[in-house]
Amino acid sequence: MPDYGHPLRFGTFITPTNAPAQRPVDLAIASERLGYDLVTFQDHPYQPGFHDTWTLLTWVAAQTSRIQISGNVLNIPLRQPAVLARSAASLDLLAGGRVAMGLGSGGFWEAIEAMGGRRLRPGEAVEALDEAIEVIRAIWDTSVRGGARAGGDHHRVAGAKRGPAPAHDIPIWIGAYKPRMLRLTGRSGDGWLPSLPYLQPGDLARGNAVIDAAAEDAGRDPREITRLLNLQPNLPAEEIARLALEDGMSTFIVMGDDERTLERFAGEIVPAVREMVGNERASRGTAVTGRVRGAAALAQRRPGIDYDAVPPSLTERTIEPGDRAYGRYRSTYLRGGRPGLVLRPEAVGEVQDAVTFAATQREVPLGVLSAGHGVSGRSVNDGGLVIDVSALNDVAILDAETGRVRVGPGARWIDVARTLAPRGLAITSGDFGGVGVGGLATAGGIGWFAREHGLTIDHLRAVEIVLADGTVRRASASENQDLFWAVRGAGQNFGIVTAFEFEAARVGQVGFAQFLFDATDTADLLSRWGEFMENADRAVSGQVALSTVQGGQRVGQAMLVVDSDDPDQLIGHLQPIAQVAPLADQRVTIGSYDEVVGAFPADEPQRGQGEPTFRSALANHLDQDMVRALAEIVDRGAAPLLQIRSVGGAVADVPTDETAYGWRDANFSIVAVGSAATGLPEAWQRVEEHAHGMYLSFDTRTPAPVDRAFPPAHLTRLRRLKREYDPTGLFRDNFFIAPE
Ligand SMILES: Cc1cc2nc3c(=O)[nH]c(=O)nc-3n(C[C@H](O)[C@H](O)[C@H](O)COP(=O)(O)OP(=O)(O)OC[C@H]3O[C@@H](n4cnc5c(N)ncnc54)[C@H](O)[C@@H]3O)c2cc1C
Repeated sequence: MPDYGHPLRFGTFITPTNAPAQRPVDLAIASERLGYDLVTFQDHPYQPGFHDTWTLLTWVAAQTSRIQISGNVLNIPLRQPAVLARSAASLDLLAGGRVAMGLGSGGFWEAIEAMGGRRLRPGEAVEALDEAIEVIRAIWDTSVRGGARAGGDHHRVAGAKRGPAPAHDIPIWIGAYKPRMLRLTGRSGDGWLPSLPYLQPGDLARGNAVIDAAAEDAGRDPREITRLLNLQPNLPAEEIARLALEDGMSTFIVMGDDERTLERFAGEIVPAVREMVGNERASRGTAVTGRVRGAAALAQRRPGIDYDAVPPSLTERTIEPGDRAYGRYRSTYLRGGRPGLVLRPEAVGEVQDAVTFAATQREVPLGVLSAGHGVSGRSVNDGGLVIDVSALNDVAILDAETGRVRVGPGARWIDVARTLAPRGLAITSGDFGGVGVGGLATAGGIGWFAREHGLTIDHLRAVEIVLADGTVRRASASENQDLFWAVRGAGQNFGIVTAFEFEAARVGQVGFAQFLFDATDTADLLSRWGEFMENADRAVSGQVALSTVQGGQRVGQAMLVVDSDDPDQLIGHLQPIAQVAPLADQRVTIGSYDEVVGAFPADEPQRGQGEPTFRSALANHLDQDMVRALAEIVDRGAAPLLQIRSVGGAVADVPTDETAYGWRDANFSIVAVGSAATGLPEAWQRVEEHAHGMYLSFDTRTPAPVDRAFPPAHLTRLRRLKREYDPTGLFRDNFFIAPE
C-alpha cells in the first residue's frame, strides 16, 4: 500500500449553519488558534439553514491570518466556474495566498433544479466538472495573451478577460468516489478529497490505484496529487496513522462542530498521529516529499541547472517550465523570458540560500526580479536562474515623526506611496507606481520630486544586502560605508538588497498638471522646455514626451508635479509653460502623491516580449547642439518616443562623491525608445556627443557602456569594490562592472 510521503496536515470541517450566525466563524477562529492547517466548509447553496459558503469563506478569511480556507466541496452545478475563479483569485489576493478549492460535481439534483440549476446524469456531471476546472484555470492564467477560451457543452468561456491571477497556485481538490471522477482527479486534480463515512473497506486503495494510473497516463507523478480525507473525530490515532501509512492519506480533516472536540483532537490525536507516522516513516526510510513533478514537467527542465541541488528551504518555493505558475515568468513589463528555474525566497535566510545555490550554477544566467520593470536589468532570462524577491514586500513606518520607513525590495512604489500618504509622508521614486523598489532604489530614482527632494537614493539611510558569498551585511553611513556608497547607484552589481530604510519627506496635497503641445517645431519646443525647467521653482519637477499621434501630427505631452496645494501658487509656477509651444490641451488637478503615482496602471499582468531598445543620456542643459541632435533623431523617425525628465535642483545639492550615482550636475535625463529598424542605435551617437553621462536604468545596451554611466573616478572605485564584494562576477546581468 502506498505512502506517498506527503507531509501530514490537519484541518477542520465545520457545518456552515447560520443559527447562530457567528458560530461557524468562531469555530474557524478556534481552528486557527488550535494550530490546525486548514478550515473547510460544506457547500449546499440550496439550504436556507446554512450560510452561503463563499460568503462565509470570505468572512472567515478576513478574521483569520494564517489558516488555509476551502469549500469542502463547492457545488459546481450552482457556481458559475468563471465567476468562481475570479472570486477565488480575489480572496486569495486579499487573504495572502490562503485559498484552496475543493470542488464537487453535484448531487441533490432536486434541490439544484429548484434553485434553477440543471439536472445532470452522473457522466454529464463529471464532464461538467472537467470543463469547469479548465475554465477556472484559464481565467487564472494571465500569462497568455487574449481572452480565455476553454470548456465545452456545460461550461464554457469564449474570449473572457483573464485574471486576476491568484496570489499563489490555488490547489484544486476533487471530491471523488466513482471511477470517472477518480480518473479526472488523477488527470487534472491537485488533491483527492473523499469522506471516510461514505467509503467501504478497500475503497481508498482502489481509489488510489485508479487515480495513480490516470495520473501516469497523463504524464504526471502520482505524488503530485495530495490525498485528503474527511473523518470522524472519534477515530483513534492508530487508525489515522494506518490511513497515512497504508492508504497514503496525508491531510486529515476532522468533522465536528464542538470546540472541545476540536481541542481534544488537536491536543491528543494530532501529536500522537504525527509521532506514529514519523517513527514508522523513519524506520521504513520513507522520505517526506516536498513538491513532486511528473514526467511531463520534468521533460521541460533546461540544461545546465542542477535541479536536485536546490536547498531544502527553497524546494517548496521553486517554479519550473512545466509548472502551472510558470506563465508569470514568461514576461516582465518590457521583455519576454524562458527561465529554467525560479526561486521565490520569502525570508532573508532563503535569499542567502538562493544566492549560495546560484553561485554553484555559473553556466547559466542569473536574474534578480523584484517588480519586473527592469529596462537595463534582465530580471528574467532564457534558460537561467531567477531569484524572485517579490514576496519580500513589507512596507513599515518605523517612526512617523522622523519619517523613517523600512521597505522590502518586492514592494512597488504605489504600495509605498499608499502606506505613507495617510501619515503625510512620501518618498520621491519614479513616475509609474508599478515600478519595483528593488530595481529603482539600487540605481538612482528620478521621480516626481527630483528637483525638490533629490533622487530616491538620497533618502536611503541603510540597506541590508545578501552578498555574492551568501552573507548578509547592513550598510549605512556608519557601517560598511563603501558598500553603502556603491549600493546607491550600482547596487545591482553588489548583491540582493533585502531591506531598504528610507527617510521619507513630509508631503501634503500636490498639483498634477498635464499639457498637450503641438510639437511640429520640435527644436523650438525642446529649447523652450529646457529654459522653462531650469528657471522653474524647485517645487516643480516633470517630463515631456514627444511622439507622433494618429494623423501624423507630432505632439509633446508634458506631465508635472508641483508641490503645492495652493491654486494661485500652482498657476504662478506653471504660467510660463504657455510660452513653450502652442497648447492643445491642459489639465491641472490637486490630489495626494499616491494618486499621482497611481494614475498609471500598476496591477495589469506583465506581457513584455522580445528585447526593447532604449537609449539614455544625461545633459546639463538643452543647449543648441543638444536640441539640434534631438530634433534630428525625432525628424528621422529614429526615436518614435523621446522623453525628457527633469533632474537638477536638489539632486545637484548632494556632492558628486557621495554616491556611486555620479552625474549630479545634469538638469535633464533624456530617454529615447526605438529599435534597430528605426536606426536608433546609430542615430544616438550624435546625441551622446553632447551628453554628460547616462542613467543606467533607462538603457538597454549590452554590454552596457559603464564608462558613460559613471564618472571615471567612480568607475575605478566601483571596480575595486566589485573585486572585494563579488570578485567572480555573480551579479552580472545588469550593467556588469568588471572587477578591477
Ligand atoms: C514604465 C516604467 C517607468 C519607469 N519610470 C522610472 C522613473 O520614473 N524613474 C526612474 O528612476 N526609473 C524609472 N524606470 C526604470 C526603473 O527604475 C528600472 O527599470 C528598475 O530597475 C525597475 O525596478 P524593478 O524592481 O521593477 O525591476 P526588475 O525587473 O524586477 O529588476 C530590474 C533589475 O534590478 C535589479 N534588482 C532588482 N531587485 C533587486 C534587489 N532586491 N537587489 C539588488 N538588485 C535588484 C536586478 O539587477 C534586476 O535585473 C521605469 C521603468 C519602467 C518600465
